[in-house]
Amino acid sequence: MLRLPETDPHDPLGESPRVIGHYIGEESGPLVVAIGGIHGNEPAGVTALEQLFDLLREEPLLNPGFSFRGELLALRGNLEALRLGKRYIDTDLNRIWKHVVRGTDDSYASAEARELDGMLAAIDNALIDSSAREIVLLDLHTTTATGGVFAITGDDAPSLSLAAELGVPVVKGMLSGLQGTTLSYFRSGQYDLDRPCRAVTFEAGAHTEEESVDRALAATVNLLRSVGCVSDEDVSTHHEEKLRAANPGVPPLLELVYVHRLESGGDHDFVMRPGFTNFTPISEGTLLADDRNGPIAAPCGGYVLMPLYQDQGGEGFFIVQRYDSSATY
Ligand SMILES: [Zn+2]
Repeated sequence: MLRLPETDPHDPLGESPRVIGHYIGEESGPLVVAIGGIHGNEPAGVTALEQLFDLLREEPLLNPGFSFRGELLALRGNLEALRLGKRYIDTDLNRIWKHVVRGTDDSYASAEARELDGMLAAIDNALIDSSAREIVLLDLHTTTATGGVFAITGDDAPSLSLAAELGVPVVKGMLSGLQGTTLSYFRSGQYDLDRPCRAVTFEAGAHTEEESVDRALAATVNLLRSVGCVSDEDVSTHHEEKLRAANPGVPPLLELVYVHRLESGGDHDFVMRPGFTNFTPISEGTLLADDRNGPIAAPCGGYVLMPLYQDQGGEGFFIVQRYDSSATY
């Protein structure tokens, strides 16, 4: 039996702004939690998840053999920032998952602390009657620059192999480079001590590219397939092609080697020089940006990742390099 959509117990009319949908398959499997819009200026992931729930409603009608193993819970991340189209209101929601305090009243330290608690409450709700033995978190993002279609995960073999299944380059080493992310919280086992949890962040391209929605949808479907929620024969291969075509020439596995952090306070006058996109190849010494101390040169060669061309953000750019390993994941 397919129950769709499931209503939120706190919202009996089913009009929860937080929950895009909660799909419960008739067979057992993992609970996949997909989140869009942790950054409010990145609505592509939300749109993709809304489209996915439209597809899931139609699929059993078009394809009577369709079955779904496990559950899919799709959430909107920073509701207030999504409404305003801003990255965040008080603080970056993807940097505050370090010392999570579950709120019991309205005394949240920031608008984002309230949003974080709302997301965890929605996942708690989904788990009340769930038989899922594993949680798989997918966090959907976009970047200011074009060309950034890649996955970020932990450096353990199960996470890397899951990320590789999305069909895009995987960047390892990001968990140590970025503190307090949603990914690191779910990877650390803090949320649920009983169930194993794998977590992947997917960067779908530029905020404003229409294809970012298609790619976020394709990656989500690939993930549902790779964790066994849907069968190979129920997934069309154009999802694969869409993702593999996004990054011609970029190595399949890369490693973070440098993060250019911005001084807090916002008076650093950091300005990225024009023309850099995700995976632009650079050499040591390439002039990448300027701030109040003058030009900023690349400390090493590699590829630029997530160059900052917006006002809000704590990192100016990242540098990644091809990761050569005999890894057998
Ligand atoms: Zn983001």
